[in-house]
Amino acid sequence: MPKAQLCTGAGHAEIPGAERTGQRRYTMSLHATKHRTNPSTGARPVLPHPAARPGPRADTMTTTETTPIQAAKPSTLLRAAASLLVVRDGPQGMEVLLVRRVERANDRSSGAYVFPGGTLDPQDQALHLHAAGLDDAAASERLNLPANGLDFYLAAVRECFEEAGLLLAYHRDGEMLAPDHLDAGQQDFLRQAVQRGGPGLAHACAELGLRLAADRLAYHSYWLTPPGLPKRFDTRFFVAIAPSGQVAIHDGMEIVEHRWIRPGEAADPDSGLPMMHVTRRTLQSIAHFETAQDCFASTSQLRDIACIMPRLAKGAAGVRPVMPNESSYAEIGRIDPDGKAHARYELAPGEPVQLSGRVWRVTANNGSVMTGPGTNTYLVGGGARNEWAVIDPGPDDAAHVQAVLAAAPGPIRWIVVTHTHMDHSPAAPALQAATGATVLGRAAPPTQWQDTGFAAARDLQHGERIAIGDDCTLRVIHTPGHASNHLCYLLEEEKTLFTGDHVMQGSTVVIAPPDGDMRAYIDSLAALQEEDLEWLAPGHGFLIARPQEAIRLLMRHRLHREAKVVNALRDLGPAPIEALLPRVYDDVPERMYPVAQRSLLAHLLKLVADGKAVEADGRWQTA
Ligand SMILES: [Zn+2]
Repeated sequence: MPKAQLCTGAGHAEIPGAERTGQRRYTMSLHATKHRTNPSTGARPVLPHPAARPGPRADTMTTTETTPIQAAKPSTLLRAAASLLVVRDGPQGMEVLLVRRVERANDRSSGAYVFPGGTLDPQDQALHLHAAGLDDAAASERLNLPANGLDFYLAAVRECFEEAGLLLAYHRDGEMLAPDHLDAGQQDFLRQAVQRGGPGLAHACAELGLRLAADRLAYHSYWLTPPGLPKRFDTRFFVAIAPSGQVAIHDGMEIVEHRWIRPGEAADPDSGLPMMHVTRRTLQSIAHFETAQDCFASTSQLRDIACIMPRLAKGAAGVRPVMPNESSYAEIGRIDPDGKAHARYELAPGEPVQLSGRVWRVTANNGSVMTGPGTNTYLVGGGARNEWAVIDPGPDDAAHVQAVLAAAPGPIRWIVVTHTHMDHSPAAPALQAATGATVLGRAAPPTQWQDTGFAAARDLQHGERIAIGDDCTLRVIHTPGHASNHLCYLLEEEKTLFTGDHVMQGSTVVIAPPDGDMRAYIDSLAALQEEDLEWLAPGHGFLIARPQEAIRLLMRHRLHREAKVVNALRDLGPAPIEALLPRVYDDVPERMYPVAQRSLLAHLLKLVADGKAVEADGRWQTA
């Protein structure tokens, strides 16, 4: 897994090549003025690179963010771009080259420190002939593109030369190019060749016998600018070791400063260096390397590099980019595919969120260790009759009831509950009093932590369908495990399953005997694998994409824990539960032991039911 996947928060993909205007002037050897092909506008023409088209590109993401990205409808063309992390060994350890862009209005990266790089250019195709050690087929395979992958490598090499005066190339003697390979005239020729209107870098390579060292670039990461921004970039980042002997230089116009700096130091917000989040995250991803060689070698080993596309959303901290590993990411992609930034990255109590034409959510203000961000109350309905059902009215909280009533787009006719824990059903009487709705669910079992006052008009049966409207149907699925009376509701028209506490987002469901039953829980998860599902709408947390993947992970997690229980019984049994606990939950902090002990009991009881363990006088052992 590429390290960059651990990153969070990015302003947008690196856009160092965008919006450059004006002439550049360099003052030292091995650097050049930027080649311009459209001086009249000052803008560089953007090669409509095949990789930049949304269609084929979506296919390259099947291993990572398939659903959200395919759901996206980019309103602007993605511009293919390449960025280069040039690293070297400094006195304090590895350093990376940053260049600072000139300050300019209407440029999101104005004044920011970036890595050398920019958009692909038609001339990059002509550079193929002069690439060393990497052909287009191999380059495309590495970038997971059908073709023209080499353009990204060569654009990174070219941009690094144009912006920072460092040319990753082999001299005709096979050595990496050093200043003393070229006399003053040749250096001047090289500089002239890449100036605006000049014959270009390919011509200079041919004349000087240079071959561009594409094989000295290691593919590091892949970012897409969030949807919704006026300019969007499809940027590949590479790592290269600085060519020894060459000296970095900036032009003083487009690039007003350059500096070699330790990546961790640059990424530290206290450094005061203005930069986009993508730059900061990329710096953090290489900060742990001791040497340039380590960084290059490790990056060269990366495979299956995932596309990282932040999405813009709003919340307490204002609008910010949300990363694919954040809990709100999939939901944001669903309700705001075009990046209008109206979706939220946090569950704000009392604030209604429209999840589809048929579904709204209001989160109760009861967040805690056990309830996560608070209990979700869903409103499901609409259609011609505009009638609505409430799924899980929530805790007995007058403010929450008011918020649900205010959020309902039409009359509430049904109140259905997933189960009768105190954070899910106790608001039913107040909501019923206000609406006259019919309450449905299953009666509370006579155990702890139950809403014993819950009174349903009748018990719902597994497989029963509740017709909310002409095209809005909830099917009841009995899912015992977390609670014996637990029901999930499948909105059949949208293949969205309201999971209550059977599946939560981001936390492990508590299975507390006697009402909680691990064997039943795993069976209930397995039964869901037979359903055609597209989204999970949990009782706690955001919408969950790729339901079957999530369910598989939950089952694997439980069976992995069960295997640890069996091993502990084998090694320690017969043993009391207290002796087994630290062994089975060696990955859990001690303060969580009371909760963990209930889960351990649930596992032990399952093993007894499975005939794999026995208990006598409070001591457990394998059967
Ligand atoms: Zn519960």
